[in-house]
Amino acid sequence: MLDKNITKELKKLTKRIDSSFYFYDLDKLEDHLRYIVENKDESIKLYYACKANPLSSILKLIRNLGIGIDVASKGELTQVVASGVKSSDIISTGPSKSRGYIRTLLEHEINCVVVESIYQLKWLNEQASEMGIKARALLRVQLEWDSKEKSVLGGDDITAFGLDEKGWKSLDLSEYENVEVIGYHVFQWGNILSASKLEEIWDHTCARINKLAQDMGVRPQVIDLGGGLGIPYQNESERIDFKDINAALVRLKKKHKLEKIWMELGRYAVGECGLYLSQVIDRKNVRGQEILVLDGGINHIARAALTNQAFPCEVLEECESKQNQEFHVHGPLCTSLDKLGVFDLPKDCDYGNWLVFTQCGAYGFTESMPFFLCHNLPAEVVKYKGDIMIPRTIKTSADWIE
Ligand SMILES: *Cc1c(COP(=O)(O)O)cnc(C)c1O
Repeated sequence: MLDKNITKELKKLTKRIDSSFYFYDLDKLEDHLRYIVENKDESIKLYYACKANPLSSILKLIRNLGIGIDVASKGELTQVVASGVKSSDIISTGPSKSRGYIRTLLEHEINCVVVESIYQLKWLNEQASEMGIKARALLRVQLEWDSKEKSVLGGDDITAFGLDEKGWKSLDLSEYENVEVIGYHVFQWGNILSASKLEEIWDHTCARINKLAQDMGVRPQVIDLGGGLGIPYQNESERIDFKDINAALVRLKKKHKLEKIWMELGRYAVGECGLYLSQVIDRKNVRGQEILVLDGGINHIARAALTNQAFPCEVLEECESKQNQEFHVHGPLCTSLDKLGVFDLPKDCDYGNWLVFTQCGAYGFTESMPFFLCHNLPAEVVKYKGDIMIPRTIKTSADWIE
């Protein structure tokens, strides 16, 4: 349920913008992140995986709390630098790093490059050598797991992230004189809602990494455990308290004699601060199914189609009916993929009502497919210290189509 004051602001915004939009509550975000930072052991360094949401006002807020940023493309690097993040607070992950991009990362003097292939290591060494510097690197490792569960990061599936242990062990690191390997990076399990399950994954990870480091003659100063902390999309009682994560990490640090643990939070950092609002354009019954068609769909928020997991949804306005019924909610695109979920909503919900989707702060707009069918791009609205601002107004296809 939305807070009454927020509902009032949102109703005003629907009149003012009159097209689908995102709303980020940066006061809520700041409280949440401050809680994390205040309950974190000194040996843990947090980064923010900015692919979750690269909006500049979010990056600036994160910067001000002393959290670093993980970038995975030149575009993200440009955005993060433009948002005033210090180079020493930037790391770079990602399977696609060309020689030129690696050069750019070094020229920006970022803290550390997470190396994901032998070419990346070669090019990092070559470019650092040309520049007469020593580049700091983590080696990204893709472990094999007994569990056959799936994950957005691959889980036990073979993916393009990093190299297996055998691949790294086949190298002689002394040949890469201009690279200082400061540790390892492992991240294969996403959106996990249990601190004890995460601890189990990390425990196994740390044991395997220590073994690998020993075999390679590396003394790891850093183990980066990636992200993967989930937020509830269905059941609100499944919520991770960062204090439990911190306690688990402190236990693991002691057990595996680790110096520093790094993580890049994505969804857990920003997911709960965001809403997506879209107006109901049409309602009909087709072959026994109640259908609502919205102004926006996967052109604004694709995650439901990509992961088969809906964002929670409610009606913005008070409806007269106190009874709910099942609605299949579709977007405007001419493809059956454009479906945001099946929801219990008041029986009299109809065209003109606005639907509010919650938990949309992460993997929202920038993960969507905005150009298909030339609809409007959504606006992005922020609330900070009580003020409402619209850093990005809607764009129509005339703004981008040739
Ligand atoms: C996306 C990503 C994250 C964040 O993932 P969440 O599931 O949002 O926590 C962390 N690390 C890397 C390398 C990533 O690519």
